[in-house]
Amino acid sequence: MARRRKSSHAWVYVIWGFNGFAILSLLAFSALYQTSQRASAANETTATAPPGSTQEIPPTSYFLPTLTPNPFYTPPVFETSTPFELANGPRPAVIGFSLAGRPIEAYTFGVGEKEYLIVAGIHGGYEWNTIALANELITHINENPGAIPTDVTLYIIRNMNPDGEARDHGVDGRVNNNGVDLNRNFPTDNWTKEWDRDGCWIYRPTTGGAYAGSEPETRSVMSFIRSRKIEAMISYHSAALGVFPGGVPWEEPSKQLAKALAKATGYPYPPIDTGCEYTGTLADWAVENGVGASVDMELSNHKGTDFEENLKALKVFLNFVP
Ligand SMILES: [Zn+2]
Repeated sequence: MARRRKSSHAWVYVIWGFNGFAILSLLAFSALYQTSQRASAANETTATAPPGSTQEIPPTSYFLPTLTPNPFYTPPVFETSTPFELANGPRPAVIGFSLAGRPIEAYTFGVGEKEYLIVAGIHGGYEWNTIALANELITHINENPGAIPTDVTLYIIRNMNPDGEARDHGVDGRVNNNGVDLNRNFPTDNWTKEWDRDGCWIYRPTTGGAYAGSEPETRSVMSFIRSRKIEAMISYHSAALGVFPGGVPWEEPSKQLAKALAKATGYPYPPIDTGCEYTGTLADWAVENGVGASVDMELSNHKGTDFEENLKALKVFLNFVP
């Protein structure tokens, strides 16, 4: 037993001797190979790079992870429905977003302490020409800064219902993406979800919203007005019924503003009474919440912008003291 163990010990030494030799040979070979690779790489670098350059050898391939798009993700669309941009002028402030994620923009002109507001497009594509008028006014004022009195700041919200405008330039473009009439969604004292349709717009189903002020477009304009002290406001509509003063019943300063604007434009005042009862309107909410005077003003049709008439109206508006 003892002798056999001795001889097996000898074989262990022999085998480990060979192993050690093999490992040392591999290490030596590997070291020689790497040295030769580095030398050839250095030769390539000096061949292509200018002398003294510290340029590194670019890797021959990149391993970047590929991303599989999530089919359930819908990216928000951040563009206005009708593209409008001033070539050389102020950028608009984004005061909120529509249900579809379209920005609601406000342009600011002048730096005076008295603040005035024009809102267009509350009835979207059905009244698309109010948005076209706002674009024309913005362009005109930008080219003629003297149109703004020195003590005035004018804000123009050019398209309050961009989803409606993007949907259709007809009866289908009036409401927002929840089917709400935004000019019946403001939290006035008389807000209602439903109303008697006699004498009112009846071409498509619509509501005043799930609750007063339920819509993001409405809330954007509410917070814009609440964070300022607005002297007077025009909310543009079409078509043909005239100039409606804000307030239930109509407030005196708003009646004075409506009269003055009707005189400048030739639009009817008192406005044409179709027997419709208006609830939750922007003009009524405005005077109930600190705006000095407000009107709903209707262009004469659904086609043109009545630009010359409304340029006269702008001058009267910006000099109106409620
Ligand atoms: Zn309207």
